[in-house]
Amino acid sequence: MANAPKMCFDRILPRDLARPARLVRGYRPGRDRAISLIGKQWVNGSTISISFLDGTQEQKEMVRSHAPEWTEYANLHFQFTENPVAQIRVTFDASDGAWSYVGTDNLDIPLHAATLNLGWQDEGVILHEFGHMIGLSHEHQNPGGGMQWNEARVIADLQGPPNYWTEAQIRHNVLDKYSADQLHGTEFDPESIMLYAFPADWTTNGFGTEENEELSEMDKEFVRAATMYPRTAGPADDDIVELRVSAATSASIGQAGEVDEFKFEVTSRGAHVIQTTGTTDVFMTLFGPNSKTVKLAENDDSGAGRNALIRADLTPGTYYVQVRHYSPIGMGDYSIAIQR
Ligand SMILES: [Zn+2]
Repeated sequence: MANAPKMCFDRILPRDLARPARLVRGYRPGRDRAISLIGKQWVNGSTISISFLDGTQEQKEMVRSHAPEWTEYANLHFQFTENPVAQIRVTFDASDGAWSYVGTDNLDIPLHAATLNLGWQDEGVILHEFGHMIGLSHEHQNPGGGMQWNEARVIADLQGPPNYWTEAQIRHNVLDKYSADQLHGTEFDPESIMLYAFPADWTTNGFGTEENEELSEMDKEFVRAATMYPRTAGPADDDIVELRVSAATSASIGQAGEVDEFKFEVTSRGAHVIQTTGTTDVFMTLFGPNSKTVKLAENDDSGAGRNALIRADLTPGTYYVQVRHYSPIGMGDYSIAIQR
């Protein structure tokens, strides 16, 4: 088919391939809109550095002018820099399609490699790929989407030009849905920037979509919601609970999908143990020093029972800790403490 749509290749890390997406039946329409993968979001208020590894002045300018639209709604900051080893490294390789790693997965990519490619450029594809970068997933893989794919047709079209994907790539990028326990958000949004255009003959119920070029109202609402990047009245740091070394702090995952954020100061270098206690199955990520975006460690169950425990030799500075429930529907109380 000559006019097969160009599709985005949602890059994921091998550890996620080990956990195949499952089709979820019997979903309940929920409150949330767009979808994001649990455990890949940036610390709220993060400044994310972005560089270009190639590209013309015109190509770079287009990214600089459109990508930051996300930060009008999400409490994140994009800092474009000449330093090539920025956290996000953009290329414009026309032979490699359009793709990005998702959220904090970007921090695990070798520093010489690109993290986001724009094989073609318009406002829609820039917003779409930067949507992945801040942690969003494909809306057509929303388990609440109810897509009834004509699989043979989708596979035949995407195996040809301009995508030339294998069947495994097509299943990963289009046909497989995420399971509800991998996601924030449930209700399908046909206007989401994270939905790609596809023809009606790709589905058995005649459902096709137009190309979305702008952030939908639901996209905006989703990224500024409490579970993603809410903007607080004061500076973002005011919202982060300060922990004292050698003291325990009580906390709670009060609603499904909530991510609690903490910070603490290290005044002299030494081995530190950060751990949770209680009966809630939490997952913990440590960032720093003096950075909300440099990920040092993450842990699920190294503590007592289902608690998280991170042991690290820390130099002086400010450190940030994210704690979430292991399950996106899980809630409960816990305590967090730092010993040295
Ligand atoms: Zn995509």
